[in-house]
Amino acid sequence: MPRLPERVRDRVPIGIAVLDGYYRVHSWNAWLAEKTAISEESALGKTLQDLFPHFNSPRLIWAIGQVITRRSPQVLSQALNQFVIPIRTAIRGRHGTSLMQQQAYVNPLAGDDGRVYAVLSILDVTESVSRSSALLEVAQKLQSDSNRDALTGLYNRRFLWEWLVQQLKLCNRYDHSLACLMLDIDHFKRVNDGHGHEGGDQVIKDFAQVVAAQLRDSDVLVRYGGEEFVVLIPHCGAECGIASAQRILAAVRGSKLGPLAPGEVTCSIGVACWSSDHPSTGEELLKRADKYLYEAKQGGRNAVVPKTVRAFKS
Ligand code: GH3
Ligand code: MG
Ligand code: MG
Repeated sequence: MPRLPERVRDRVPIGIAVLDGYYRVHSWNAWLAEKTAISEESALGKTLQDLFPHFNSPRLIWAIGQVITRRSPQVLSQALNQFVIPIRTAIRGRHGTSLMQQQAYVNPLAGDDGRVYAVLSILDVTESVSRSSALLEVAQKLQSDSNRDALTGLYNRRFLWEWLVQQLKLCNRYDHSLACLMLDIDHFKRVNDGHGHEGGDQVIKDFAQVVAAQLRDSDVLVRYGGEEFVVLIPHCGAECGIASAQRILAAVRGSKLGPLAPGEVTCSIGVACWSSDHPSTGEELLKRADKYLYEAKQGGRNAVVPKTVRAFKS
């Protein structure tokens, strides 16, 4: 049986076990004894399966086999295996325990008896794994925040342009249409004047929710400016765009927004549509919707322009 100098073996902050070709333990260091609560005395001569009845790591069994028959060192990464042997560990900063995340190495060791043994080394990587998943969470949150408007939680302009560029490529490729609605709350200055900036903010937030409730998950609703919004509806032509705008207009008119009763807040909507018959850039599409929005304002507000598909085409 191979012997490791115990002074070294029992002082390193990693788990070290020596196993034979039958997966029986020949050496079990102090770290493993402490972490698994199995003393070396009780571990010696037992297989991993004896020690951990729920042990199920075909990758480790295979790695030990490779080391003993071919003397080929093996690495078991945390990313693929998570843990090699089940060790419970306290969760840092919280109550309770979780399974220790491990990085493991299996290396050949020639025994005094002429046989080859497998040295299993286990590193506790729980902390670095939880640190990197916390970092990933923060990165995802930052990414999502950078695409969102703080007041309403809707997408912002930055997202709009990224999304639109990609979407128009798909529209081109698959000959899909895309409706673009530009919305602006009517006489919003009066809301601010009558109810203060906070009252105005509440109207903007409620307006965003009322519009969102009229849309599908696949539609994109953007806060384009102060009280200006853009709705992008994939696979939606002129008729569908006008119908969607009319639906939104009616929903806004029928809703209580912030301190204002139903009917007190209205909006105007300009509708433009991208189709392969009339291809355009994203900027041109928004400009057309904005032009129609301006006409809706000029025409007295609380309206959708164009009103009909025929007007749309002319
Ligand atoms: P119109 O019908 O022509 O659109 O009239 P309007 O009063 O809505 O005109 P306009 O679009 O020029 O005014 C928008 C006002 O919205 C001006 C600005 O002070 C206000 N505003 C912009 N952003 C915010 C915001 O985040 N919160 C609040 N409360 N007000 C805002
Ligand atoms: Mg306005
Ligand atoms: Mg405006």
